[in-house]
Amino acid sequence: MYHSESGFLNKINDNIEIKNYDAPEPEDDEVTVEQAYSGVCFRDILTKQGFFPRVALPIIPGHEIGGTIVKKGKNVKSFSIGDKVSSLIYVPCGKCEFCLTGRENLCPNKKSFGETLNGGYSKYVNVNTSSLVKVPPGVPEEAIPIAACVTAMLVHAIVKMGRIERGDNVLITGAGGGVGVHAIQIVKAYGGHPIAETSSQWKEEELYKLGADHIVHASDDFNADVKKLGGADIVLEDVGIRTFNKSLRSLKTGGRMIVIGNLNPEPVSLPLGLIILKGNTIKGSITSTREDLKIALDLNASGKVKPIIGRKINISEINRAYDAMLAREIFGRVLVEY
Ligand SMILES: [Zn+2]
Ligand SMILES: [Zn+2]
Repeated sequence: MYHSESGFLNKINDNIEIKNYDAPEPEDDEVTVEQAYSGVCFRDILTKQGFFPRVALPIIPGHEIGGTIVKKGKNVKSFSIGDKVSSLIYVPCGKCEFCLTGRENLCPNKKSFGETLNGGYSKYVNVNTSSLVKVPPGVPEEAIPIAACVTAMLVHAIVKMGRIERGDNVLITGAGGGVGVHAIQIVKAYGGHPIAETSSQWKEEELYKLGADHIVHASDDFNADVKKLGGADIVLEDVGIRTFNKSLRSLKTGGRMIVIGNLNPEPVSLPLGLIILKGNTIKGSITSTREDLKIALDLNASGKVKPIIGRKINISEINRAYDAMLAREIFGRVLVEY
């Protein structure tokens, strides 16, 4: 039996409770993964705050999962004990029109780790093999749990939905957060010019070091600044109402806005005339597929995208980490270390 100190969400708005947990035997199509780290995501905070009504409480939160296989169910043929694996943030159904056409990120029947399945806030997690990708050599341990929710999600948004080409200007809103710092590197890896929007002046030097070509500020009319740089071919919108309108006005004619995040559930207003006149596109992009996850891990293996980790914590410090994330005190991702 594999046991460890694990985090539990018992009730909406309660603090995460830490208690000893015995991982059950893996089901026939599952493996037990031993994690060195698991990722902490802003979505975990939204889950705690009750934004996702389908959450099956009590639950082990967290959906950023990866590590080494230590046990496998009896149907598992394609993975072996000792394999390093990274997991999608959900288990696809494998049967719907989306799963059958390589778009399992859109599967309406998917089960989500940390919401409808016990998740990553535990050293040992059981994962269905349909969520797993083998990790190639050379990937840093810290990159493994965040590959699906951060790196591959961005590959999906920037490459598949945004169709980035060499020389494209890509405006990244909320660039100092855990997502933005990886987006800068991916844009760079594909030959684009990252323009980083941040509201935290202390993060600027680090953003330039990661490869940002320019920095603009949310407090200014940053769309005017982006226009001076030629306008944005792609905007990666990860903030919502605070930046949305300026982001839209930053787009070039024919530009693409890819919406990947929304910190505030308030609706935004959409100037339809502007979208029509400039032939702009607005697309939502949700999580990642196994194909995206493979590309992301290859980017990690080649060193083109490095995991930017702001803080490593013990699971007992999770509630304080949430406070620090809400106060935007952390540059990069938070990992729980086991
Ligand atoms: Zn996440
Ligand atoms: Zn499906």
